[in-house]
Amino acid sequence: MKKACVIGYPIAHSRSPIIHNYWLKHYGLDGLYEKREVKPEALAYFLTNLKVEGYVGCNVTIPHKEAAIASVAHIDEIVRKTGSLNTVYFEDGELCATSTDGEGFYRNVQAAFPDIQLAGKKAIVLGAGGAARAIIERLIRAGAEVRILNRTPARAQELASLFGSQAKAINLDRFVTESSNTALLVNTTSQGMKGQSGPELELSALPKTAVVADIVYVPLKTNFLKQAEVHGLRTIGGLGMLLHQAVVGFEKWFGVRPEVTPELYQMVANDVARG
Ligand code: NAP
Repeated sequence: MKKACVIGYPIAHSRSPIIHNYWLKHYGLDGLYEKREVKPEALAYFLTNLKVEGYVGCNVTIPHKEAAIASVAHIDEIVRKTGSLNTVYFEDGELCATSTDGEGFYRNVQAAFPDIQLAGKKAIVLGAGGAARAIIERLIRAGAEVRILNRTPARAQELASLFGSQAKAINLDRFVTESSNTALLVNTTSQGMKGQSGPELELSALPKTAVVADIVYVPLKTNFLKQAEVHGLRTIGGLGMLLHQAVVGFEKWFGVRPEVTPELYQMVANDVARG
């Protein structure tokens, strides 16, 4: 039997086992996906001994996404650019790592709105943390012109400087001016979690074709998305990103490219709703 796991500290909250074990059953594969609580001081030992522990790979979550880089043999270009990883697998016996959050975000948006054009179009990213970095890296590969807006402007500046001329930091007071001809607005901040009010922005200047995304998925529909709907804008929540980011790891570990189905979405959404 092939086994994979998710490691973090704490780890009880992780919904990754629901996703991967659903796919293992759905595709009739002999495998198991577990949660493993790994303390920071045990991280290097755990990763170095991943095979001995019986795993073909693992997901890595908070607080290990950056520190884990030191314990793998190969990182791809995405990890190099974003400075964080979330998926570890073996290739030719060596421990390799990638980061799938950006891809998960991008595929979720594409799956919901296949007509969205990002190449040469403006995408406004709220936030400058780890998730923003992963999403910006993917949006830039899609050809978007990224604008970064953050509570702490210096962090937005710092992030923009990593990505060259396709990314610019903007101040809050520029939001309305920058809104025209924006294809995508995404909240990557933790504002809006568990029903707190989300980012409060004047959304009326966004084109009606714009997509407004939130990567927060507890609740499934945040106040930020509700506000966007009031303006007649198309919206997408964060749960689909979580499901799509899992596709890459599952394929690497178990050899089948899984599908994100409405049934899977509902199963995880029910778990989120139970709290
Ligand atoms: P992070 O690195 O800690 O960054 C947090 C960001 O939120 C920073 O830009 C921070 O601004 C901003 N922020 C926090 N509280 C704020 C407030 N009260 N007002 C304004 N800005 C505030 O966190 P992260 O790892 O990027 O994660 C961010 C969110 O994304 C979390 O809710 C996480 O659960 C979610 N997430 C979802 C997925 C998914 O699959 N859907 C994947 C990854 C993360 P400052 O720089 O000013 O502190």
